[in-house]
Amino acid sequence: MKEMTCSEMGGPADCTTVLRGETADEMVKAGWDHIQAAHPEMAEGIKNNPKEVNDKWQEEFRATFDALPDAPAEAG
Ligand SMILES: [Zn+2]
Repeated sequence: MKEMTCSEMGGPADCTTVLRGETADEMVKAGWDHIQAAHPEMAEGIKNNPKEVNDKWQEEFRATFDALPDAPAEAG
């Protein structure tokens, strides 16, 4: 399980919501669900991006995700 904040994933710089995922795909989904719920204007912008832009983001995100250390297991 890895953790990133919304801002680390490219969200607003002041958003500290923590997103978690076992895989890059899970993290992308968690981030996307959060962005649609919390930052709908940003979600619209992403939907309107050219496919190449979103593909490039995914590629870079996967590299970032792979380099992350595992988050400590949560108590309980
Ligand atoms: Zn956020």
